Amino acid sequence: MNELLTKQYETLGISKEIYTYGMRIEEELLERFAQIDRVAEYNQLKVIHAMQKNRVSAECFQSSSGYGYNDLGRETLEKVYASCFRGEDALVRPQITCGTHALALALMSNLRPGDELLSPVGKPYDTLEEVIGIRPSKGSLAEYGVTYRQVDLLSDGSFDYETIKNAINERTKLVTIQRSKGYATRKTLSVERIGELVAFVKKIKPDVICMVDNCYGEFVEEREPLEVGADMIVGSLIKNPGGGLAPVGGYIVGKKECVENAAYRLTSPGLGKEVGASLGIMQSFYEGLFLAPTVVAGALKGAIFAANIYERLGFDVIPDGKESRHDIIQAVAFHNPDALIAFCEGIQAAAPVDSYVTPEPWAMPGYDSDVIMAAGAFVQGSSIELSADGPLKPPYAVYFQGGLTWYHAKLGILKSLQKLKERNLVNTERLC
Ligand SMILES: *Cc1c(COP(=O)(O)O)cnc(C)c1O
Repeated sequence: MNELLTKQYETLGISKEIYTYGMRIEEELLERFAQIDRVAEYNQLKVIHAMQKNRVSAECFQSSSGYGYNDLGRETLEKVYASCFRGEDALVRPQITCGTHALALALMSNLRPGDELLSPVGKPYDTLEEVIGIRPSKGSLAEYGVTYRQVDLLSDGSFDYETIKNAINERTKLVTIQRSKGYATRKTLSVERIGELVAFVKKIKPDVICMVDNCYGEFVEEREPLEVGADMIVGSLIKNPGGGLAPVGGYIVGKKECVENAAYRLTSPGLGKEVGASLGIMQSFYEGLFLAPTVVAGALKGAIFAANIYERLGFDVIPDGKESRHDIIQAVAFHNPDALIAFCEGIQAAAPVDSYVTPEPWAMPGYDSDVIMAAGAFVQGSSIELSADGPLKPPYAVYFQGGLTWYHAKLGILKSLQKLKERNLVNTERLC
């Protein structure tokens, strides 16, 4: 055992027992970690190739203000995103405030009154309920006369092809497919499965737009959804593709017409992509994308490490310790509020920022129970940085994601376990 390292962990409050347990788990995961590194290597080359092909230059990092006409950095970055994710065009903007905004933009700009939106993979992410109007809300698609249909997954997680086929009608204009499970308990969709679903939908109705909510999925696999037939992918820059450096933003990549529609909605009919000052943050977008494949690899290792650490101790983990991964989210169901709180306190205590504060459950707007959140991030609310949250209600599950480096993710998980142990919330016999 490396003594210097053990000492350093002790300095950060990790006991030798916890450290040793972690080391044993890590050793069993080396083969999987190597596989993750190979995917990261492939994606790193993909990003570099996209940057070279589109002649990224130092000029691209210059700031523009006002209207932002002829902003070389912005225009080149959008070409880089289009190349990297294999789309015809892209909209990548700091004016897109978050993932929900990017998704709302993609939907509202590509749907017209009388059209129908279909989700063939069950309920979409919580914040989209108000965008669509599943929960009545001002400005929702429902208010504009766009109807919504949903087909749930079958109980074994497979697509309900028969019902999907019956749900597609002459008004069906856009099909939304969420890659990550969000706060649902279904499995995350692999790019391959997304491809199967898109092919099925297109066979029934070739001109339907297939949109993928790509949040938390970017760079987890070698391929992205546009490569298997999707028309549009949408995501947030303070998740995977911003690499932790982008301080804000969202993206839409895909068919030229879909992206154009979104641009006319984001700015104005007639203006589209031609305006939008970049205000000096282009370098962080480029550099973040450049780092994103390795950052995602670190976060993935953290998720798998956490699954194995807690699974071995007898907790329910979703996905389980052996499952293949298609996003960076890990859930642990503690069935005990004290354990959920201790976990979040551990994640917070391991942070580079705000490590000295103690997270407390609070009544967050939009939730029907108290929620506890741990985040000591450089970018507010960034969830590619190490973060955890969970509602204080059964099954007392924590959703955990991110980590700009694997070492930080590892420290966070060990620290969470340390907190659980100090409060006698783990079976210590299983630690050895
Ligand atoms: C995070 C997320 C969103 C929403 O993104 P915000 O940036 O939080 O608005 C939508 N869909 C999925 C699957 C997500 O993970």
